[in-house]
Order: sequence, then C-alpha cells, then structure tokens
Amino acid sequence: MKLSLVAPCYNEEGNVRLFCEEARRILEGIEYEIVFINDGSKDGTLKVLKELYAEKKDNLKIINFSRNFGKEAGLYAGLQHAGGDYVVIIDTDMQQPIEVAREMVEFLEEHPEYDEVAAYQEERKEGKIMTAFKSAFYSMINKLCDVELYKNASDFRCLRRSVVNAILSMSEYHRFSKGIFAWIGFETYYRPYEVRERNAGTTSWSFWKLVNYALEGVVSFSTKPLKMATKLGVVTSILAILYMLVVIIQKLAFGINIPGYPTVIVLILLIGGIQLTVLGIIGEYLAKMHIEVKNRPIYIAKNVWSYEDTEKE
Ligand code: UDP
Ligand code: MG
Repeated sequence: MKLSLVAPCYNEEGNVRLFCEEARRILEGIEYEIVFINDGSKDGTLKVLKELYAEKKDNLKIINFSRNFGKEAGLYAGLQHAGGDYVVIIDTDMQQPIEVAREMVEFLEEHPEYDEVAAYQEERKEGKIMTAFKSAFYSMINKLCDVELYKNASDFRCLRRSVVNAILSMSEYHRFSKGIFAWIGFETYYRPYEVRERNAGTTSWSFWKLVNYALEGVVSFSTKPLKMATKLGVVTSILAILYMLVVIIQKLAFGINIPGYPTVIVLILLIGGIQLTVLGIIGEYLAKMHIEVKNRPIYIAKNVWSYEDTEKE
C-alpha cells in the first residue's frame, strides 16, 4: 500500500461520504487506503461509515472507539493501523484539501532528503483576538520548551514510515502532537496551504479548550515552570531576609515599636499567594505523573473493520 489517509472523526456524519468521494476523485492513480477513527461520535457518523464500508468502493479501515478519547488518541490509533509507505494525517471536515495531501506525497517521492512534509496556514482565517492569542501561545511555548514549534503548523502532514514508527514509539498518555512532531526531529519541509471552510457540522474547539491545550503542551514538554518556581522561592526568601535585617536594625538602633500592621497583612497575603501558585505548578506535574504511571491504554477500540479482513474471507 502506498498511501494511508488517517482521518479522525468526531460528529462528522455530514462529511465522511464527501471525504471518500473526494479522495476517490483526487487520488486517482494512487494506491491508497483510508483509516477512519470514529472517536465516540454522538451523531450518525458510525452508521455512514459502515454504509461506506459495505459499499466496498474504497479501501477502508474503521476503528470504532468505545467513547470519545480525543483527536490525539485518534491519531495514535490511526497511525497504528495505517499500512502505507506514506501516511497523511488529515481532518475529515474537508478543511484540509486532499489535493494538498496528494502534492505532499509527490513532493516526498521526488525529494528523498526530506522525511515529512507539514502544511501550515499562511493566513489564519480567524478573528483578530484568536490570531493574537495563538501568536502569544507560540512565543510562550517556544520560550518555555526545549523543542521549537513551527508557527501555525498543524497536524496536516505527510509522513514517511520511519517517522510514523518514531511517533508510535512515543506511547505517552498525554499526547501533545505539536510537541511530539517537533521532539522526534527528522527533516521536515514546511509548505503553505489555504484552509477551507468546514463542510458540515461545527468545530469542537472552544476558547477555553484551546487555553487548556496550550497549558497541557507546556507541562508535557517543559520542566521550566518548576525551575521558575524554585527561582521565585529563592528571590522571595532573600527579600524576606533583607527586610528582617532592616526590622532588627530599626529595633536595636531606635528601639521603637514599628507600627507594621499593613506590612504584615500584605506580606502574609503575598507569601501565601506565591506558595499556592508554586504548589499549583507542582500539582500540574504531579497530576500528569499520576495518570502516566497508571499506564492506561491511550484508547479503547470497540470494533475494528478492515477491507484487508474481508479480502481474506
Ligand atoms: N476530532 C476528533 N475527536 C475530537 C474532536 C475532534 O477526532 O474529540 C476530529 C474532527 O472530527 C476533525 C478533526 O479532529 O476531523 C479536527 O476537529 P475540528 O474540525 O473540530 O477542529 P478545527 O478544525 O476547528 O481545529
Ligand atoms: Mg476543522
């Protein structure tokens, strides 16, 4: 098999059929399969997928999750089941053109020096505020993390088998794929593409989900916040000692009772606040470790259907 399209679906009943038809039209002449991951959709996605599967017009694999595990888990499952020499990760909502997927495969065939092609949005078709927040996210995470994230690069990518194996070898539970792509290295070619409007349905990303995702990324790929907590502790301790000396000298030299009620209150609140913040940072890491050491599976598949199995029958 030459090419596998890995397409996660969450409530995409209005898109999967069009996705298959477009793939059939655009990928003509290429041997390909489509790996659909039904990520616990609440609509009729699974029904449409099974209809498509029964029609046998495409080489389909369907991985049906037992519940919603999130897109990152879906990608992991999709990569595990993809059999192609090249694997393209692509959304099912038609925002990412299949034409670009084809071009990425052709690029890799012509350029053996590259291991993967990543598509990035040249212009973000979002509100100014969202664009500003995303921009702030990239500069923050690139300052904090040891790996460099390419601005606006999505997970719309074409990977060679070696890259797929590298990603699969990272079996952590908390999967921040932007970080994983950067961490594994490999020669990556970045190409611009124009994102399209969603065909049917709505996006599952809210503003707060994105904020949480960003924090997740920092905790997953950097321990700098912990070091910052240590530094903050050292600085406040030094300031406290200096102030203590001031108070002692005042008392010895002038013997006055310092009327320091406001100072005491402010200091208690300040130090208390710093302590809670630092504890919170430690807590974030501890919570991640807590889940990670349980070593739970990244996803649970209720059923897997594959065109390869029906061929064997
Ligand atoms: N998706 C998924 N599981 C989820 C949320 C989303 O598999 O819990 C899929 C979704 O079906 C789509 C892709 O991930 O194919 C991107 O999602 P969406 O279009 O909502 O995100 P956006 O394009 O707005 O970033
Ligand atoms: Mg989308």
